[in-house]
Amino acid sequence: MPTRRILVIAGSDSSGGAGLEADQKVIAAHGCYAMTATTALTAQNTQGVEGIHEVPSEFVRKCVDAVVGDVGVDVVKTGMLASAETITVVAEAIIRHKIPITVIDPVMVSTSGHQLLPQPAVLNLVNTLLPHATLLTPNLPEARLLLQTASKPISSDSPESVDDLKVIAKDIRKLGPKYVLLKGGHLPLTRGHRAAKTEEEKAVVVNVLAGPGDQEVEIFETEYLRSENTHGTGCSLASAIASNLALGKTMRQAVNDAILYVEAGIKTAPTDIGKGSGPINHF
Ligand code: PLP
Repeated sequence: MPTRRILVIAGSDSSGGAGLEADQKVIAAHGCYAMTATTALTAQNTQGVEGIHEVPSEFVRKCVDAVVGDVGVDVVKTGMLASAETITVVAEAIIRHKIPITVIDPVMVSTSGHQLLPQPAVLNLVNTLLPHATLLTPNLPEARLLLQTASKPISSDSPESVDDLKVIAKDIRKLGPKYVLLKGGHLPLTRGHRAAKTEEEKAVVVNVLAGPGDQEVEIFETEYLRSENTHGTGCSLASAIASNLALGKTMRQAVNDAILYVEAGIKTAPTDIGKGSGPINHF
């Protein structure tokens, strides 16, 4: 098989646990070749974000055009896009270069709670980028914000069950992506798939994949893991899916294998990196 080429358009995390540093480790671990168009530098460690230095969107365009024109790209994976202008640049580049597969992680807030995409740029994300997503991977807070921004009535503002998650995933799909993977990590469920009311009841996490048909949904259930090492899990999951798609797996298989990869990465995470929310194991 020829080398599979993945272009990551995302922000740098100086601590190496999230952002394009994590993306590159995951893509390399999957045997694919990673390239980058850096949208912003973050001064960051496991305890929080101390500063953000944006890259001008024109320069992001140059990076994308440079690598597409020479190396070629099988899959584009996006993370922190930092500004409305950069979102426009990315959407235009996806169309101009006829990128066949795009995995869009709608990064808006860091695990430590820092805003990584200004609120006004969310509207641009909805209007210009979502229609070009092969797969969109929101977590629940991101899903809520995307629906609010698109002025779509939120069918379930406080989801209680897997059925609620399925409805939200289908609603987001109506904004344009071919597939939506709604990540349920913010809503740990009981074994009976109800919202856990106590810490002890938290037993499983359910991720919902909607698409490609309007009524098609599939659930992926994993054990709820109690861990400090969750920094970069969203980036790592999206990059693992992007790698699996580049390797020719079906969407279902790509998502399933990526979830198992991140689960194993949390279970074997190094416990001696930083004093805060540490990285997973990128193996
Ligand atoms: N991208 C960058 C540059 C970040 O700093 C972060 C989080 O801190 C993220 C993306 C999102 O990380 P996560 O995968 O934990 O959602």
